[in-house]
Amino acid sequence: MNEYNTDLRFQGTEMLKEKLPPRLARLEDLAYNFWWSWHRASRDLFKQLDRTLWTTTHHNPVRILLEVPQERLDYLAKDPIFLRDYDAVLMDMDKDILNNGHWYARTYPDLKSHTIAYFSAEFGMHTSLPIYSGGLGVLSGDTSKEASDLGLPFVGVGFLYQQGYFRQRLDHSGWQEAIYPPLNESEVALRPVLCDDRTCSTICLHVGDRDLYLQIWEVHVGRTRIYLMDADVEQNAPWDRELTARLYGGDQEMRIQQEILLGIGGVHILRSLNIDPQIWHLNEGHSAFMVLERLREYVAAGLSLDEAKQRVRASTIFTTHTPVPAGHDAFPFGLMEKYFNTFWPQLDMSREDFLSLGSHPTYYGEAFNMTKLALLLSGYTNGVSMLHGEVSRKMWHSLWPELPETDVPIGHVTNGVHLPSWTGDNLHRLYRHSISPDWMENQDDPLIWARIEDVPDEVLWDAHTHLKRKMFSIIRERARDDRISRAMPPEQLLASGIFLDPDALVIGFARRFATYKRAGLIFRDIERLFRLLHDRYRPVQFVFAGKAHPADDPGKLLLQEIYNWARNPAVGGRIAFVEDYDMHVSRYLVQGVDVWLNTPRKPMEASGTSGMKAAFNGVLNLSIPDGWWAEACNGRNGWMIDAGVFYDDPNQQDDADAGALYRLLEEQVIPLFYQRDQDNVPRGWVAMMKEAIRTVGPQFSARRMMKEYTRHYYVPALHETLKLQGK
Ligand SMILES: *Cc1c(COP(=O)(O)O)cnc(C)c1O
Repeated sequence: MNEYNTDLRFQGTEMLKEKLPPRLARLEDLAYNFWWSWHRASRDLFKQLDRTLWTTTHHNPVRILLEVPQERLDYLAKDPIFLRDYDAVLMDMDKDILNNGHWYARTYPDLKSHTIAYFSAEFGMHTSLPIYSGGLGVLSGDTSKEASDLGLPFVGVGFLYQQGYFRQRLDHSGWQEAIYPPLNESEVALRPVLCDDRTCSTICLHVGDRDLYLQIWEVHVGRTRIYLMDADVEQNAPWDRELTARLYGGDQEMRIQQEILLGIGGVHILRSLNIDPQIWHLNEGHSAFMVLERLREYVAAGLSLDEAKQRVRASTIFTTHTPVPAGHDAFPFGLMEKYFNTFWPQLDMSREDFLSLGSHPTYYGEAFNMTKLALLLSGYTNGVSMLHGEVSRKMWHSLWPELPETDVPIGHVTNGVHLPSWTGDNLHRLYRHSISPDWMENQDDPLIWARIEDVPDEVLWDAHTHLKRKMFSIIRERARDDRISRAMPPEQLLASGIFLDPDALVIGFARRFATYKRAGLIFRDIERLFRLLHDRYRPVQFVFAGKAHPADDPGKLLLQEIYNWARNPAVGGRIAFVEDYDMHVSRYLVQGVDVWLNTPRKPMEASGTSGMKAAFNGVLNLSIPDGWWAEACNGRNGWMIDAGVFYDDPNQQDDADAGALYRLLEEQVIPLFYQRDQDNVPRGWVAMMKEAIRTVGPQFSARRMMKEYTRHYYVPALHETLKLQGK
């Protein structure tokens, strides 16, 4: 691969090939595999390369390598200490990626060669690849990383969005502006898939009445490969090139086309790469058209429609994430006809039979529902927490009217987070030292975490204080940049967090500004809130962050209201709003605040995962017992905001929940935080931190989650599928 390719999209890799000294040539492999992001020694290696670039690029090794001065590389190529670290990191990476002795291969040696394909509209691996909007994407990213760690034969399928989700800016009135900086592919760890003649590999897909071309990109996440489709290619008409420009943008018609690309195009992509998955996992209903394409393939190969359905069901797993009926995608019949009128004849189906695959008269009328389609053609369906499993069985009971609700075939696998990615660096070291040198390998074993009790209180407290200070320095850094680059007026600085007191209690609230998440709950009784903020001896502070969907005006209004409180002089800088919530900001917040607040309107939070990240960093959850927290809270590892009543009127419910929240803060959270011994250590608080780490770490790790998917879904599905194939 030495010839020079003139396509602009190769620039990054080609430039690196010229720039890297031969002795350091494999820095490219390392930078182009997100493996580096959850292995400390390789993070340290890039830090060593150039500490300033590490910070200014927001930890993007590809940009670091492109921007680091040539002299620095030439110097390091002769620096024995750097070379020692470099060799060690690469040896580690090769050992992890090439070795075949991972958990999956050891446990299921006869299944290890059968591929599992995972379809998702978003993937959140790292901030530098902005193809996620929030929790769903971060889950896909964590899933891909954990699949690599466990050695699952796993490939992801998704989109390369040229403009990603948006970057958030607040104007002088606190109104959210959406900015869409175009992605510069040559500065990100992705590579185009190439054909033998070194042109970019593309596929052609028939959509509606025209042909669409999709280029394929490849991302390496440890052993996992993720293939991303991109419609921004010359062969497509200008308006078609926009089809994969943004996440969740555009109207219904844009959306149905995107979902055709994802579901049907995704199958074509895998075929063109000669990848033949035996298991197909739909992460949310966006990609459900995939089951139709696979039906079509089977029918074209000579199976009857019933046999085809049986095959598809046996090999498909569907994870639903949405606990409210309105949150499920449904397309009007007119649009379905426009895009599928040549499709149903290929399945030997009538229009009515075809449309009934996705319609549900009692719920949706004349619309084709993607969740219904997925439920009907997946042999295995799950919600993402115990409570969400129940809610989903209730919501879809009408599809199985003959069964009691408890027997509706929807189970649950509670979400988990990829612990190595979300743990603060110093806690990593602490766990390695006091829990086990290979805690990452045994992270889902509850027994090893009992050792957290032996960590001296002041050691854990110091580690937390260090992470808290790091968060403060990031907040101040951003405020300084904004002051200079955007000439932010002084009153806005009040909201930036520079007046926060690092020694006082900090409560974090960072999530999407959907109204059901009730970011405004703490503002329901302003006087009571002000008493807490301005308590002379025991002040409370808040850090908010989060984006509202660009089309969600109520969400944007709520955000504006909170921002206006934050910059209100009467608040005195005790409330901060950090703009542009993404994985980078999230990382510092979940590690650095003292308390993680979550106030969804029950039962609308399917799972939630940010609280898991927080807990494993010793940050205590203060949350409505919804989603994961309903099964995690044991009364000693955080607090449950439970008013003990249920009202039909949301207003009354909000009042009751806010009352319960204030009481908890006044009577428990604040006193415990400020109750210090002569060494200024809050012993009672640290005891709760330990309990949170011990109970949440193993149970809410992506490792536990992926082992459950494997045992309860992938493996049974594989056995069934192989049996149907007569293997
Ligand atoms: C973890 C994470 C989420 C998910 O958080 P919730 O608990 O579901 O609100 C969303 N966005 C980012 C950037 C995250 O890191």
